[in-house]
Amino acid sequence: MDKKDKITAVVPCFNEEEVIGLFYEEICRVAERMKEQAEFEILFVNDGSSDGTLAKMKELREKDRRVCYLSFSRNFGKEAAMYAGLEHATGDYVAVIDADLQHPPELLIEMYRSIREEGFDSAAAQRVSRTGEPKLRAFVSRKFYRVLAKLSKIEVVDGEVDYRLMSRQMVNAVLQMSERNRFTKGIFSWVGFRTKWIPYENVERAAGTTKWSFGKLLKYSLEGIIGYSTAPLAFVSLIGVLFCIAAFIAILFIIIKTLVWGDPVGGWPSLACMILGVSGVQLFCMGILGQYLGKTYLEVKNRPIYLASIVETNENGQTEAGGAESGK
Ligand code: UDP
Ligand code: MG
Repeated sequence: MDKKDKITAVVPCFNEEEVIGLFYEEICRVAERMKEQAEFEILFVNDGSSDGTLAKMKELREKDRRVCYLSFSRNFGKEAAMYAGLEHATGDYVAVIDADLQHPPELLIEMYRSIREEGFDSAAAQRVSRTGEPKLRAFVSRKFYRVLAKLSKIEVVDGEVDYRLMSRQMVNAVLQMSERNRFTKGIFSWVGFRTKWIPYENVERAAGTTKWSFGKLLKYSLEGIIGYSTAPLAFVSLIGVLFCIAAFIAILFIIIKTLVWGDPVGGWPSLACMILGVSGVQLFCMGILGQYLGKTYLEVKNRPIYLASIVETNENGQTEAGGAESGK
């Protein structure tokens, strides 16, 4: 008989003590249904939770050796948690999935089939409804992805969520992108590979609350645009050129006006307005430049993407415990 495939489910968790148990039960049910074809590894990443999430992970690990976990020294964000999970996953196929059961684990069955039988490199979930989500948030997020697609070559499919199963080849490609400003949806699109989209209806959180505030989402969106597009820089240059043209026309106008009508003193209010307007635009453009400079600065520092304080995974066929670990 062939060796069974191994699927690693990477589960970023931030203050998820209320759902982690439910999630575990649910994924075990899926593992049971797939046991003929594949075995499972469930890799929880504790992203600096302040509640009992880590204790729950330890408890699950005690009773089930398929469960592994790593724990960050503080909250590094979901992007870092996904990276750490991919780095420590030992499966032939790796899935990233939320802990709150908004990503139905049973989709893994179809995802796995698509990759194995239809020759795709990855299978991703596509949310076809946004019920239960605030209207404004849904609207802004849809617009954002449209702008991003226009400004960069990154195609984020409408309804794309961070839930997908990938082949080892694709995981390795994603791991090669070791940038600090991580925008995983962009990374998945950038690395290419053939992706099958599997539609599903939005589900509300099983328990707990969302960890995304409006501010966090805004920062995430800017990360997406600045990380994948230099269009704002081109836009700044364009504004510069337009202002030069306007200034040139204004100068010509003033010279001709002075030659024809002489030079009566006046017009300082319009001058003041112009100075104000132009300096405003300059500051705005400098701000855009600053955003890129800031990102470059953070990349150049080459800080680790995350710092883990506890690692209990199955790498090299053995279990490590304790010790600090970091993503390059
Ligand atoms: N998450 C994380 N670190 C964070 C924020 C969120 O690991 O800083 C995890 C969280 O535990 C969950 C997933 O990312 O498993 C999605 O978070 P959430 O459900 O709050 O987001 P939403 O579904 O509302 O977009
Ligand atoms: Mg959620």
